[in-house]
Amino acid sequence: MRKRFFKFYIQLKIYIHRHLSLSREPLLPHTPDSLSRSDQPRRNPFLERKGEREREMADRFFPNEMPDFEAETTIDETSSERIKDSLTEVLSLPYKTLSEKFRRSALDLKDTVVRETWGHGGKRVQDFALYTGTLGTAYLLYKAYQVTKNKDDLALCSEMVKACDSASHGSRRVTFICGRAGVCALGAVVAKHSGDERLLHHYLTQFKEIKLPKDLPNELLYGRAGFLLACSFLNKHIGKDPLSSIRTRAVVDDIIKAGRQLANKGTCPLMYEWHGKKYWGAAHGLAGIMHVLMDMELKPDEVEDVKGTLRYMIKNCFPSGNYPSSEGSESDRLVHWCHGAPGVALTLVKASEVFGCKEFLQAAVDAGEVVWNRGLLKRVGVCHGISGNTYVFLSLYRLTGNVEFLYRAKAFACFLLDRAQNLISEGKMHGGDRPYSLFEGIGGMAYLFLDMIEPSEARFPAYEL
Ligand SMILES: [Zn+2]
Repeated sequence: MRKRFFKFYIQLKIYIHRHLSLSREPLLPHTPDSLSRSDQPRRNPFLERKGEREREMADRFFPNEMPDFEAETTIDETSSERIKDSLTEVLSLPYKTLSEKFRRSALDLKDTVVRETWGHGGKRVQDFALYTGTLGTAYLLYKAYQVTKNKDDLALCSEMVKACDSASHGSRRVTFICGRAGVCALGAVVAKHSGDERLLHHYLTQFKEIKLPKDLPNELLYGRAGFLLACSFLNKHIGKDPLSSIRTRAVVDDIIKAGRQLANKGTCPLMYEWHGKKYWGAAHGLAGIMHVLMDMELKPDEVEDVKGTLRYMIKNCFPSGNYPSSEGSESDRLVHWCHGAPGVALTLVKASEVFGCKEFLQAAVDAGEVVWNRGLLKRVGVCHGISGNTYVFLSLYRLTGNVEFLYRAKAFACFLLDRAQNLISEGKMHGGDRPYSLFEGIGGMAYLFLDMIEPSEARFPAYEL
């Protein structure tokens, strides 16, 4: 009898967890439950045979048939006979002409995203988060405002953030990209630009009231690092507040402590777990956590642990140069911002900027090579699509000033500009599970095109601040 009652109790708990607790908030994006099968790192022993493995790889990305590099001056009218297709043609345009094309397409896409996610009078906010929800559209509008100085975009952005503010009240999610900290931080920055002191005060007060649960994970999308990212965003755009410095310090302490506890002594100084796996990528693992920590004021021993963790990752990358999605994984498949070389490359670029070490720059360049060869994904978004992968070259260009990286960024962005819409409508490219969102859909592509107007200033949305 007690055994049957216990079984019933467990089943009831599972039912409540699956149905009732999730019904209060939309399904978490990018979790083991919600990741589509093609996005999930998995190992299939039958695919270990080489031929099948190659086929599986070909399913993920388009072969990159563009030249590795062509200097802008070598592409002129005399090379017109080599121009066989529209992609080569668009890629050969002088940058000024091309940037005007990016601008026009970006603003068209932005209007489509607003129409589909917000409508004319505003839709009821179901998913408030920046990753796939309304705040992502607001973030895109804020970017459009920065580029065009169109006050209408700023006003609409502010309206959307207000709707997200109401929708996220009482939310247990606390991060920049998937939680309430993103709403309050973007709200404060937009209020500052609008010259609305009262609203600025409101969002800053709301931000300070966010409480971090004790059992919070440490990763970027749902954990402590994601809260710190919102603090960095505020510090950068509003200015440092001594009270918030004390608070961020306490969160850094928790992250370092947790990382040292799980670390494998003598190999990797910091390690973290999320949903039972020790992830390495930007969304849930080491790359994202290290990226955020490098923006914090760290003690000397903490700096050494961050450097040591990055060195461990560099030493243990796959022979191909790609990075495992989690500790011990032998599956060399994913070349995404969320899992694999692109997310790690951005962290290594940051490490090179912060620490000035050549070893991190070289490792970032090596990771960029993987992105060039296997990163022309059959998806558009920034999280696991071409738009996100393009930022690897933009970051390397910002860091080094080397025009070869600008060319590669241009090549990926031109591929999207020339082909994405057709490939999606023909079913040859995935338009994203949330097709208009910032992280999975064409919202991210619009953001990238806005960044291509001034490529030396480009930064991965809501991540590279
Ligand atoms: Zn992803």
